[in-house]
Order: sequence, then C-alpha cells, then structure tokens
Amino acid sequence: MTVESLDIYPGSERRRGGSVYFMADTEGGAGLFVSGPDMELFEGTDVALSGETFKRCPLTVENSKTLRKLFEFANPVSHKGRNITIGLGDRLGIASTGHIRTVRELDVFPVLAQQSIRELNLTGRTYEGVLAAAVWAVFREGYTKGYGADGDHLKTHAEVEHALECGYTMITLDCSEHIRNDMVTAAQTMVDERYCTLPAEVTSQLEKVYLNKSFHIYNDISIEFSEADFRRAVLVYLPAVSHALSIYSKLIKGKDVDFEVSIDETMSTTSPQSHFFVANELIRKGAEFASLAPRFVGEFQKGIDYIGDTSGFERDFLVHARIADKFGYKISVHSGSDKFSIFPIVGRLTSGKFHLKTAGTSWLEAVRVIAKHDPGLYREMHVFALENLGEAKKYYHTTEDTSNIAAVGDVPDAGLADYLEHEDARRVLHITYGLILMAERDDGAPLFRDRIYNFLRAHEAEYFAALERHIGRHLTALGAENEVESGKWKVES
Ligand code: ZN
Repeated sequence: MTVESLDIYPGSERRRGGSVYFMADTEGGAGLFVSGPDMELFEGTDVALSGETFKRCPLTVENSKTLRKLFEFANPVSHKGRNITIGLGDRLGIASTGHIRTVRELDVFPVLAQQSIRELNLTGRTYEGVLAAAVWAVFREGYTKGYGADGDHLKTHAEVEHALECGYTMITLDCSEHIRNDMVTAAQTMVDERYCTLPAEVTSQLEKVYLNKSFHIYNDISIEFSEADFRRAVLVYLPAVSHALSIYSKLIKGKDVDFEVSIDETMSTTSPQSHFFVANELIRKGAEFASLAPRFVGEFQKGIDYIGDTSGFERDFLVHARIADKFGYKISVHSGSDKFSIFPIVGRLTSGKFHLKTAGTSWLEAVRVIAKHDPGLYREMHVFALENLGEAKKYYHTTEDTSNIAAVGDVPDAGLADYLEHEDARRVLHITYGLILMAERDDGAPLFRDRIYNFLRAHEAEYFAALERHIGRHLTALGAENEVESGKWKVES
C-alpha cells in the first residue's frame, strides 16, 4: 500500500536508534509513522513510503503509552519550581497543538491535559484519552519543555487513584462536598451548639492554635480570629481539611505530584480567615500542596469577563495571594476563562507566580471557527444550544439573558461569528458543549460530533491560529511576557 498526499507535521520528525518517527495527516486521519526496529512496538499497519517500510500507527491510547515509554519528553511532569503554570483544558482533545504554539516561546508551563469528572462525562471521554490527546500534540509539535496533566476537581479516593494510575501529575482535590455551607449562614447559637458537640481534645488543641493570636502575613496584613469566626471556620472547613489530609496521606505523599486543594466550588466567598485556617491546618498536619484555590469575591461565570468590582477583587486577591506566599504555595485561579479585567491584577499581585485554569474558551474558539466557515452547522448548534440551555444549567451557574441574543434566523452568515463577542450568547454556547457533543439523532448517530470533528480537521490551521490569538490574549493580560528575572514584576501591597 502506498500512502499518497502525506502532509508531514514538521516538528514531529525524530530518530531513535535505527528508527525514524514522524506524524502526518493522511486521508485516513492523522497518524504516527515509524520505521526500523521500533515498528514492532506499535499497533498499526505496514505501508511503503518512497521504497521504505513504515508502520502507520493510529493515534490510540495504547500507542501513546508506547510512545511515552520511548520518549521521556512525551510524559507529563510536575511543575514544581515553575512560576507561571497554566491549565489549558481541551474539551475536544484537539486544541493542545494550538496551546503549545501559544506558550512555547514564553516562560509558561502548560498543563495540557486538564479535565474534571464532570467534563469527562459531558464529553464521553476518559482520563486515558484526555492524556493521550496531549501526548500526541506534544510529539507532533516536538515540544520538549515539559507539560502537566491535571485530574481536575476530583472528589474521592477512587477518582484520585484512577487519575494517578493514568499518569496524571497534578491532582486538584475538590473539597466542596466536605464544606459545610449550612454552617456559613447558620445563627451563632446554632454554631455554638454544634461546636460544643465536637470532641474536647480537638477543640482545645485548635483553640490554643488560633484564639488570642495574631498571624502576621505581610506588611499590615495579619489574620486574627474572633471566637465566633473561629468556631464557624472549624465547623465549615474542618471536615474538608480531614478529607484532604486523608487523600494526601493515602495517595499523594511521597509522589512527584502537584497537589492542589480546591475550596472554590462552594456557595460562599472564602474569607482570609477561612483560607488561612484550611492552609494552616493542612500544613500543621504535614500535608504538602502546590496550590490552593479559594473562592474569590465577585462572579467567575464561564467564558465571559469578571462580574464585580475589580478594585474589590484586588483587595481580596491581595490577601489570598499573600497568605499563599507566606506558606510557600501558589494561589490557583479557576478562571472560567476570559477574565481579562482581573488578569493583570493576578499577574502583578503574585509577582508572576500563580496557577490559572482555563478550558471552555478553547471550545468557544472552535465554535467561532465553525461560525465563520460553516454557517449551516453553526446555525443548527446555536438553535440546539438555546433549546437545551435548561439542561446545561443543571451543571453550570450562569445568569445570561437570552432575550438579548439576536434571533439566529435574522443574522446573515457574515454576522454569525459576532455571537462569539456577545456575553449572553457566549455563556449559552459555552455551557452547552457537552450536550452538543453528545446529542444523538433518532437513529442513534451523533447529531453534531462527527461534523464538528471533521470540520475542525479540515480547518485545523484556522483553529490553531484562533487559539494562539485568544489564549495569547489571556497570557498577555496576565503579564506572561514579563520576565520574572528582569525585575519588571514588582510586589505591591
Ligand atoms: Zn474550580
């Protein structure tokens, strides 16, 4: 068999022993080509290319695992010691090439595989598949600077164990189910009553640590607990601390894994006292973690800018960033993407040392390219998204007003991409990604999935360029072009 019209990806050519490797786009889809002794290590079919025999290997999970055994750089690694680390979730499994092109000239460590269990379920993917997609992009681009893989918003021992078994190098533990939100708003009498039911040896020890103390953080920032604050913090967060400690001691300790503690997916803003209490308890009891995600003031809705007063955010963020700095971990911002008005604050107040997650915006960039080049497909997706918005809102909190979205039938083809500039439309198209990808026709065939993937394969260059532009805007706003060493970063109080 001869392979015609072979479009070799330039960054992918490599040699290992007597074997030649490259990746290429062919009529049957992208594949890895291997010649020489390594051929037998991969699954695939033999093909003749210019008189030489190669194995054409499909981009499967199995083949990605073999590749990882042979090439060190194809494996995800911990990002310890790296200043700017950015989670670039890729819900479709095809965006990482664009993400790599965005960061490769910058001093930015990309976490290319980043998916929560919710996102896996909504897209019908697996942890192995999500990591494999990143591996293929890394090999394709010849990206050897290191990347991470984040099992995002994991909640249980079984979930963490599974992500680690799949080779994930970052674990984001979502403690939300162990945060007692009812105690945030409960009357003080109720708080006192509950507090008194806790074991005396626990409360007396905690009281010695926290009451009548002032914890100096930075310049004029200190943390103090009134007895009422303290009791509430214990009731709300102690179960979450215990959960995190249990996961840490059983699954994380001793491993080269970036452990993130997330307390952001909760009803209430994380106060400085609560942040300090959680971090101090974890550290006091021996846990080491790379980052902590509080819930900041204001709203972080998906795919649109920050909602709230940015100077209020700046005051709140400063204290969280200083607490993190004092303890020596990074603050993590689960941005929900596109928070351009506060990104400069994040970069500046952390002196360029932070973890920040984005994901859905890379899906929206795919939708943007579809809107530009396949108006028919876009129109169908748009109508479907509006019709199924109620279902999506079971998983995502957004407050769009659909009456602000122009009827798609009234908009000419040339105007469709403008929906991607519209905050109400963006939220609708963002949160319905899973429903769009998993929708089926009456005969069980995918309604959109195959068309979306085929379209993006044919318009790959446009998609990667759109990602470079849009994720590049994120990095510019965050100050990623600044060199930490150059002294441009100034810590401000
Ligand atoms: Zn989060």
